[in-house]
Amino acid sequence: MSASPPNDAVPDARDLARELRHVVNQGASASALDPDEVPGLLALACVAGPAQESGIPAQAQLVIVLKHLLEPEKGSNNTTPSSQQPEVRRALALLLGIADTTKGKDSATRRTRAKNYLHDDLMPPGTFNRRHVQPLLELLADELVEYDSKYRMRDTHDRLAEKLPASPALAVLWLDRFQYYYRIWSDLSGLETDLTVYLRVRHDPQTTPSQLETRRRTALWYLARFFLHLDQFIDQRGGLWLLSDEEQAQRVADAVSLLNFHPPCTEQGRSWLSFAALEQPVPAFHRFTRKLDEDDAGTLILARWRAWLEACQCDNQSPDEDCELHIVLRQCGRYLEIIDREWNRIVEWFTGPPGKSVITAEQVAEMNLRWRIPAVATEDELRPST
Ligand SMILES: [Zn+2]
Repeated sequence: MSASPPNDAVPDARDLARELRHVVNQGASASALDPDEVPGLLALACVAGPAQESGIPAQAQLVIVLKHLLEPEKGSNNTTPSSQQPEVRRALALLLGIADTTKGKDSATRRTRAKNYLHDDLMPPGTFNRRHVQPLLELLADELVEYDSKYRMRDTHDRLAEKLPASPALAVLWLDRFQYYYRIWSDLSGLETDLTVYLRVRHDPQTTPSQLETRRRTALWYLARFFLHLDQFIDQRGGLWLLSDEEQAQRVADAVSLLNFHPPCTEQGRSWLSFAALEQPVPAFHRFTRKLDEDDAGTLILARWRAWLEACQCDNQSPDEDCELHIVLRQCGRYLEIIDREWNRIVEWFTGPPGKSVITAEQVAEMNLRWRIPAVATEDELRPST
């Protein structure tokens, strides 16, 4: 049976931290937890949903979630705050009885083990209980809120894909995300096109030096816009790649990270490009290219870019695996493919039967048009006129 759609209410971390005290007192085992003491924890979508789906008690699912957060499997892409601090994670696992060494132990033993792990034998247990337990639980509560929000987003994505009822508020959040994803999509699509055309025409005697230079510069313009839109995604939406599942999200994150690394830009060059692409009032290629010529930093970036393009001596049919330009081309393709596939999975939910959709078919068509901006110059413009 499919669980009902998650609601929009964001759980309160302070309430959850208070309820976690009960888990510390009783130990994290399904049979020990009193549902009346932990109503907020059991009502979390990431607890209630999977429990209903697999027909297990919510308390058991809560223990599974806690274990997942505190003892993630090796290689899993768990980027919660405490995964940045493995010692905090370990202390919480000892405290709650998630760790093998404290599982089934009484509360005093678990508290002492956690205290000794984080501090030392000399700290009195009372001091640890008064000063240190609550901050640890607050950290865990924050993580639960974050984990639950990711769960609800993924669950909504599945519902949209299956055309099941879903929370309109969360569906709108997906639209918002894809708007960011598709700004980057447009940049990478332009970059991919320009690099491909550049490679095809660079040795063609009919291509004039000025045509080739324009192509180099439009490619750089798309790269600059990619840096800009990636920065905006990080500043405004935290930069977390959320997609239908962890694997797709990881593949996109890897592609973006390679696209950040392989073009020949220093940190300063990258931020110069990002700023140049932001040019007000309207971002425009002609302003960008003028800036490249007028500014010393721009001239240097352009010189590096030319050298980087020329370093590719591949045969277009069988490119070298280690060639930087071809790595960039491949990663552009990977990003475009995954984002399109993920968007295409859910787009019909929004355009569903009349009266049921959140947005109209016209709005979706407009978004497709606006997001998937084609490359500025078409291939024909580079072909010599006959
Ligand atoms: Zn190459």
